[in-house]
Amino acid sequence: MSKVKIQKTDAIILRRYPLRETSILLVLYTKDFGKIKGVIKGVRGPRAQFGSFPEILTLNRIVFYESKKSELFYITQCDLIDLFKNIRADLERTAYASYAAELTDAATPPNEKCEELFTLLLNTLNLLCEPGSARRVTRIFEIKLLLIVGLMPELDGCVHCSKAVDADVKFSPKLGGLLCKNCLSSDTAAINISPGTINFIRHIKKTPYEKTLRVKVSKQVGEEVENILRKFLDMHIDIKLKTLDFLKKIEK
Ligand SMILES: [Zn+2]
Repeated sequence: MSKVKIQKTDAIILRRYPLRETSILLVLYTKDFGKIKGVIKGVRGPRAQFGSFPEILTLNRIVFYESKKSELFYITQCDLIDLFKNIRADLERTAYASYAAELTDAATPPNEKCEELFTLLLNTLNLLCEPGSARRVTRIFEIKLLLIVGLMPELDGCVHCSKAVDADVKFSPKLGGLLCKNCLSSDTAAINISPGTINFIRHIKKTPYEKTLRVKVSKQVGEEVENILRKFLDMHIDIKLKTLDFLKKIEK
């Protein structure tokens, strides 16, 4: 008989659902196993035996084993490491953190390890606890995430003809990149993009994460980056991101 393999890793809780009477189902982004789905039994109801109640947007150390019958993992221990208290105390920061969690879930396949993405999400949550601009932290998160998961729009040449581009370009959310003036007819819904925005995204792309936080960005460029990435994500990420509507309201 094969022995059940017990695993241990650090995990950020992205989603949480009630499951049957007494259990919960968690979607977690883990350091060593990528995105996984895990069940915790006996955490709800009058005879709940599990210690603390796991909250979304927290960092935990979990112990789990694989189910032989399904893709689910069974979590036997979940010890809280960080509650990201300052995010919880602020509605706007909670919305940005929820968006980061949702985008991570929507853009990643299950059970594929990517420590770089785990670190990016963890750094983002830590930074959202600090007084700096939550919007800027979120823009940098979006660009770095797209880069890591291989969804980065083409900004170095024309996405249609691959030729080098000059200043006379538009951005096609549908085709996922810049269009030169000769190729504009390939997407009539292409939108304006300023050189400042192109440069900002290119710069964040090639700058190590720790250094991106020192990059200055004007309000106009910040808003354009936001608009362009939203339109792009709407086209290329299947799941409708619930938090986006809320963010649009508070960002006005
Ligand atoms: Zn072209």
